[in-house]
Formats: sequence, structure tokens, C-alpha cells
Amino acid sequence: MVMTQRQYPDGHDSPRECPRGHELRAGQVIVGWSPCQCPPCLERGRGLRGHHTYLCRDCHDDGYTTVAYFPYHVPAEGAAIRWP
Ligand SMILES: [Zn+2]
Ligand SMILES: [Zn+2]
Repeated sequence: MVMTQRQYPDGHDSPRECPRGHELRAGQVIVGWSPCQCPPCLERGRGLRGHHTYLCRDCHDDGYTTVAYFPYHVPAEGAAIRWP
């Protein structure tokens, strides 16, 4: 199992491609949600504290697991990081 993660800076409305370069088009991406308490998440409203996750099905078919996070994840400085 190969796990690749990629993060995206603010300003994108959603990731355009997976970490391996596949286009994240409808039907080829599984969108999930990962609750998070990092600074960018805490600035968001209640119920929005987390990241959307984009799992690429093309990669999955190739035997890879790639997940893109949106918005950008910034670990709090000095905080114990519990990141799946
Ligand atoms: Zn892919
Ligand atoms: Zn986060």
C-alpha cells in the first residue's frame, strides 16, 4: 500500500488533480471529510472545522491510495499532531 498525500493552498475552490496527476473529475473522486483543529480550520465557522478529502479512484484502480486535502492543512506550532 502506497499512501500519498497532497495539500493545496488557499485560493483554490477544490483540488484539480490528484497527487499522481489524474484529473479529479466527477465519478473518479470520492469526497470525504476529515475533522481538524488546525489554525485554518479554527478560523472557519462551527461545523466547518475540517478538511474535505479527495480520494482518487484512478489511483485506487492502480493499487495506490492518494488523498488530497482541502483547504490547506497547517499543523499548529508545537502541538501534538494527530493526523490520520
Ligand atoms: Zn490519481
Ligand atoms: Zn487541518
